[in-house]
Amino acid sequence: MRFDLITIFPEFFAGPLDHGILRRARESKLVEVHVQDLRAFTKDRHRTVDDRPFGGGEGMVLKPEPLFEAVESLLGHGTGHASKPGAADPKTAIVLMSAAGKLFRQETARRYAQLERIIFICGRYEGVDERVAEHLATEEISIGDLVLSGGELPAMMIVDAVTRLLPGALGNEASSQNESFSGAVHQESGMLHPADSASHQSPVTSHALLDFPHYTRPAEYRGWAVPEILIGGNHSEVAKWRRAAAIEKTRRNRPDLRPRE
Ligand code: SAH
Repeated sequence: MRFDLITIFPEFFAGPLDHGILRRARESKLVEVHVQDLRAFTKDRHRTVDDRPFGGGEGMVLKPEPLFEAVESLLGHGTGHASKPGAADPKTAIVLMSAAGKLFRQETARRYAQLERIIFICGRYEGVDERVAEHLATEEISIGDLVLSGGELPAMMIVDAVTRLLPGALGNEASSQNESFSGAVHQESGMLHPADSASHQSPVTSHALLDFPHYTRPAEYRGWAVPEILIGGNHSEVAKWRRAAAIEKTRRNRPDLRPRE
């Protein structure tokens, strides 16, 4: 899997890529990460990437030309124009990070893990010229209902979430199978439920549970004891307890997931 990150802050990614699972996945060549400085695709002396918004208003907007040219340089071919739109490669996603995008979820990560390549476009300022969302990106994605100052952290979150799903990335192969959201299936498009998609919530269509609570030693800490059943070593009792605890925790923290017994 290859990730490309297009950004005006190429130094930004130095830390997050160099630790834990991501570091190991890069070292073992499971993933390749390339950071592309957007300013390399400017042609003026000031290396301008932004401009004032048409129609007035505050802030600056990332210009389309450097972004289109950066993506085309990475792909090694053109991406089309109004009279001749380019064809998309189904194994490559071009993802525009945007607070106004579709929500990224665990099943989005699972879908991305099947791809060969993801090119991320990290916005800044007021955002990105809309023609990038319309004619360059294959998807416009938000990591949650909040506004950050740039697309770098969101892109990094996706790189992390996708990498840990690649076979061989986790030490223990089983560990991504039974975690929070592993059973969740949402309607990614939200098209069947326009009311839900308007509020950025799409309905869960199959079992979604948060992870069960984990405990380790000491068995008692400051007077708080680990649930007795977990210490007893009765595997079926432990499994029953964990399922009940996961349902209880999902109800408490995420009633919107509508956990079922
Ligand atoms: N004016 C925009 C916010 C721009 S924030 C709006 O109101 O929607 C600047 C950049 O940060 C965006 O272009 C995007 O790339 C990134 N960003 C901010 N919040 C994000 C989120 N929730 N998910 C993904 N990217 C986000």
